[in-house]
Amino acid sequence: MSAGTGQRAAAADPLRFVHDGLAELDAQGLRRTLRTIEGPPGPRAAIDGQERILLCSNAYLGLHRHPDVVRAAQEAAASHGTGSTGSRLISGSTDLHAGLERELADLKGQEDCVLFGTGYQANLGAVTALVGQGDLVLSDRLNHASLIDACRLSRAAVQVYDHADADDLAARLAAHRRDHRRALVVTDGVFSMDGDEAPLGAIADACEDHDAALLVDDAHGTGVLGPDGAGTAAAQGVADRVHLHMGTLSKALGSEGGFVAADEATCDWLRNRARSFVFSTAPAPPGMAAARAALGVVRREPERRERLHANAARLRDGLQALGFKALPGRTPIVPVVTGEVGPTMALMDALWQPGVYVAGIRPPTVPEGACRLRATVMAGHTEADLDEALAAFAAAGREVGLLP
Ligand SMILES: *Cc1c(COP(=O)(O)O)cnc(C)c1O
Repeated sequence: MSAGTGQRAAAADPLRFVHDGLAELDAQGLRRTLRTIEGPPGPRAAIDGQERILLCSNAYLGLHRHPDVVRAAQEAAASHGTGSTGSRLISGSTDLHAGLERELADLKGQEDCVLFGTGYQANLGAVTALVGQGDLVLSDRLNHASLIDACRLSRAAVQVYDHADADDLAARLAAHRRDHRRALVVTDGVFSMDGDEAPLGAIADACEDHDAALLVDDAHGTGVLGPDGAGTAAAQGVADRVHLHMGTLSKALGSEGGFVAADEATCDWLRNRARSFVFSTAPAPPGMAAARAALGVVRREPERRERLHANAARLRDGLQALGFKALPGRTPIVPVVTGEVGPTMALMDALWQPGVYVAGIRPPTVPEGACRLRATVMAGHTEADLDEALAAFAAAGREVGLLP
């Protein structure tokens, strides 16, 4: 303790604002809390000690608990250790990292790939390495927070274009491109809160017309859409027109980590200039081995993707037939738009009692008045699981007044 501490007047708590801030969140119904999931979450999971049908996991294919994937992680922990112990550029680069990068590059039809600790870090690192002061970055209004943060951090001029609107993008490029050195367009492939897809062909047209590079964040498309789960761009037939294919290992691939696949020179640039790559420890070996094993399962067991898509259609069609505003699309993300915070959380609570857990999504994750229950399906859900969930939705919807 430093001398004189005893004489100091009782100081005001410099963090007192957090109490007021939390009370305000409480009053608005926006305070979030954690729920504890026991065991590896599956189609059903024990949550806070109670079994529920789980309709809000990103483990679309259930690979985080696939025996081959689990074994690969265990073996890698034994052979390589539990942590990578260093940044990739110093001492953290293993054969597991290099091998996974080769497979991801192949999956995306690119020359090379760079792994990051998370998808969030991949976006921060890539965008800030590619554009800076004097440059232009154009971003879809509904892009993931990690892209929004990356744009801000880059210090490039930011143009936010209307959601999935390639005409608005082209107009903004036409108006602003010439005043800037470089231009980069960033978009989610599958939008995480709406489950719809970016019109990548039209976006690529605009990029090609205006000398702009295109980065697609395919966190939700990788392993899910397209041939061999190659992603949204492959599903739309435009993979070769996307310069940077960003993705995450944390969703369909059941692991943890992010990546950017691109041409060799661009990847080399990222290894030299992406600060979240240079100044962060390499992702841990067990996760790398798990993701690589997961890619093998994605290729070998296409029936998992087929079941996933059949399940998504069953839930989406069922909710629409009941009269819910379930957004259209072909992805496993099925948002039920509820509007204000009150009915959203009421519906979530009314579903919890009969045995369905689906998270209410509130601001700041979605805009004011655009709250929703964001339901996601897994390949492992049975038709009986989904029909039980739909029955619960019907009853809960009437109970809270969202259905007649
Ligand atoms: C989840 C997600 C990320 C972040 O990936 P993490 O690996 O979880 O950090 C980035 N972009 C989108 C669209 C996402 O849904």
